[in-house]
Amino acid sequence: MPVFNHPDFDHHQQIVFGSDAASGLRAIIAIHDTNRGPALGGLRIYPYASEAAALTDVLRLSRGMSYKSAMADLPLGGGKAVIIADPRTEKTPALLRAMGRLVESLGGAYITAEDSGSSEADMQTIAEATAHVGGLRRASGESGDPSPFTAWGVFCALKSAVRHGLGRDDLEGLSVAIQGVGHVGAHLARHLHAAGARLVLTDVNQVALTHLAEELGAEPVAPETIFDAEVDVFAPCAMGAVLDESVVERLEARVVCGAANNQLATPAMAERLMARGILYTPDYVANAGGVIEIAWQRRDDYDRSAVMDHIEGIGTTLDELFARAAREEVSPALIADAMARERFGRC
Ligand code: NAD
Repeated sequence: MPVFNHPDFDHHQQIVFGSDAASGLRAIIAIHDTNRGPALGGLRIYPYASEAAALTDVLRLSRGMSYKSAMADLPLGGGKAVIIADPRTEKTPALLRAMGRLVESLGGAYITAEDSGSSEADMQTIAEATAHVGGLRRASGESGDPSPFTAWGVFCALKSAVRHGLGRDDLEGLSVAIQGVGHVGAHLARHLHAAGARLVLTDVNQVALTHLAEELGAEPVAPETIFDAEVDVFAPCAMGAVLDESVVERLEARVVCGAANNQLATPAMAERLMARGILYTPDYVANAGGVIEIAWQRRDDYDRSAVMDHIEGIGTTLDELFARAAREEVSPALIADAMARERFGRC
């Protein structure tokens, strides 16, 4: 399994393979870049088909976190961790504590948090072995769930995208199709509803879909037809790689802005969207609200309104990014990558 010659190796500063015989831990931590500060990124627990698949995932995800933190103006670098295990059957307190010891051994260069397969309760267990954990329940008793903050950031991003892509400042009567009404998608739908938008929703979870559609007076549609919805904005809030060639050709929306990570199936899709006159909002800029809040938890002066102001800054960053993309006649995705690399000092 090549590491330094791996196609997703991007001069990651450190890649640590950890194991623990007693608990069965098999984990990889990748630290992509710490020029701006310690590498923050979630812990994904997933039954990867192979070690090579786990390595590919952790290399890509950790690199993405460097871009996300830099564009969110955080004093943080990019890292990520994966445990090769089925979170439903193999996640034990012993395994999580062993992971905590592995995180601790890096002396704070990597800070862990929730990701798919790991919960806030898991972070509490990991925190028994290391102080380098984010996404924990606050002293106020408020949940450590980052989703409401992510959703608020996507809402702010969407307002900027609508300004630049559709030339309008308010969301009254705007139509938005949301793919996925889980943790983030449902919060986003409520913000949009409150702002007067008309919603088309879908989810593979029929119960969640029906409930939210009834609550908001939204139109529920089947998952396969969401791309054909005659709307102004498409908001992918389910899974990655959703914008492939066929979806890009089908979209009726003129703006794409959502929470899902890695929305572009290939980098070339950014140009295809542009050629169709669709404004694409770079995902890692739009969905940074959660990581911004986790970063604030590390400060002694945590203040909810300051956190919300910081998250609203996503809209200002996008205003600059969209303007530069228009000036240089290139896709917003390309500009985001260039701006992020400038910010973490790898031009
Ligand atoms: P979630 O699992 O709570 O919600 C995802 C929803 O999408 C679920 O309701 C699921 O049923 C639905 N879904 C899955 N496949 C679908 C399909 N083919 N068609 C329609 N619906 C489908 O996850 P979440 O926390 O809301 O995150 C949503 C996305 O945003 C993910 O891609 C995640 O990586 C990304 N993200 C989340 C956060 C956060 O704070 N939670 C932060 C950054 C990025």
